[in-house]
Amino acid sequence: MLDPKHIKSLKDLVGEENVFSDKAHMIAYSYDATRTRFEPDAVVFPRDEEDVSRILVYCNHHGIVITPRGAGSGFTGGALPTSGGIILAMEKHMNKILEIDMENMVAVVQPGVINMDLQKAAEEVGLFYPPDPASEEYSTLGGNVSENAGGMRAAKYGITKDYVMALRAVRPNGDIIRAGKRTIKDVAGYNVAGILIASEGTLAVLTELTLKLIPKPNFTKAYMGIFPSVDDAMNAVFKSLAAGANPVAMEFMDDLVVQALKEKLGIELPEDAGALLIGDVDGNVSEEVEFQLEILERSFKENGAQDFVIAHTAKERDKLWYARRNASPSITIFGSKKLNEDISVPRSMLPEALKRIYEIGDRYGFKVPCFGHAGDGNIHVNVMVDGSNEKQLEEGHKAIKEIFELVVEMGGTLSGEHGIGTSKAPFMDIAFNDAELTLFRDIKKAFDPNNILNPGKMGLPN
Ligand SMILES: Cc1cc2nc3c(=O)[nH]c(=O)nc-3n(C[C@H](O)[C@H](O)[C@H](O)COP(=O)(O)OP(=O)(O)OC[C@H]3O[C@@H](n4cnc5c(N)ncnc54)[C@H](O)[C@@H]3O)c2cc1C
Repeated sequence: MLDPKHIKSLKDLVGEENVFSDKAHMIAYSYDATRTRFEPDAVVFPRDEEDVSRILVYCNHHGIVITPRGAGSGFTGGALPTSGGIILAMEKHMNKILEIDMENMVAVVQPGVINMDLQKAAEEVGLFYPPDPASEEYSTLGGNVSENAGGMRAAKYGITKDYVMALRAVRPNGDIIRAGKRTIKDVAGYNVAGILIASEGTLAVLTELTLKLIPKPNFTKAYMGIFPSVDDAMNAVFKSLAAGANPVAMEFMDDLVVQALKEKLGIELPEDAGALLIGDVDGNVSEEVEFQLEILERSFKENGAQDFVIAHTAKERDKLWYARRNASPSITIFGSKKLNEDISVPRSMLPEALKRIYEIGDRYGFKVPCFGHAGDGNIHVNVMVDGSNEKQLEEGHKAIKEIFELVVEMGGTLSGEHGIGTSKAPFMDIAFNDAELTLFRDIKKAFDPNNILNPGKMGLPN
């Protein structure tokens, strides 16, 4: 519980209208997409970078914990105020696109800008901001950078980190730092921006982002490959990429997802369909798109595809993507609760990884439908349990731990997109050795010696 004198001081610093400690605000800011609840003691809406600096100086001096927050759409608890203190919410004031620089093809934004708002602003001038997490309509760019968010287009265009050219941030002692430049080349000094990307609000508060834009491709078409088995589809993924395919997206759905799409949504798919690959190809000239589709069709068919469907119109494209967009809600036919992890392995390991993940599921007696971004090796693995059955939940978590161990053994990672937060913190020692974890703690200490910024996240001390 925060002493009321601190609430008053914070109001003096940033204005009465920007500091709240009433119950309604505490409840509203106690959630993220994990649906776990931790109430803060106050919610503060900084008006600008100077406010952020003033708040951090005050809190650092008084040992008040701060949790930076974008839209609270995180899947791993990063924005949850697990130690109380204040939520520093960027969405109210620090939500402006400051500049779109056509010549250098960059956008300068405040951290509370919604991802889709930048995509639209870029498109209006013929440019393109590719990172597109499925939460693009509400997640913020500050949150995206702090989690290094990925999306459907990662196979061709990469992820958030590939678009961060520079940033401004405030350290817990109030120091305002700049990292990176509006230049393609910059090798002066440590890559501080690189350290802050994916740091989940544990090192500094991001206050301004300079993001790379690229020319908008003129043509896009969607495709779907239908395969008899998961193995065939997985082989087709890396074989087609090795053959020169460069799809924007290559999304995978396994036999269980295919079953769920048919049963729950009535989607028509062949009787013997055992896996799907759905995606887009794009290009600046239509021939480029046709060339890509040819490579994919040839490669898919050489690797066992029963059918290759091309969507020629926007309506047909929506129809193909409908299956992928509904993969997640449809699989609840296998259990009321999904223990969902976003593991990532080198693409060539996907067939073996999936085979062994299903074996783990079988051993525990759980269905494990899998779908996701096969083009970049990032798969959503869903251990389906009865959410009202404590024993099943416990067993499900054991299965998850085994899956993490397997993935790390195969050269993969605990998280391809969603970060560590609190949910995956207990598994950090599977992925990192003592020396690496010590380095993480040392980096944290260098930025935040008093441990006021988002303590206890990413396996760091509370
Ligand atoms: C339906 C749904 C679909 C999703 N799909 C995807 C997907 O396809 N790909 C993907 O990668 N993720 C996805 N996510 C997860 C989530 O949307 C992303 O992690 C997103 O980047 C979080 O942004 P946010 O603004 O909601 O951040 P929050 O959840 O508010 O915060 C996330 C983390 O960033 C920190 N943070 C936020 N702003 C700042 C700042 N200014 N300075 C310092 N730290 C800050 C917070 O402290 C926290 O640790 C999805 C979530 C949902 C609910």
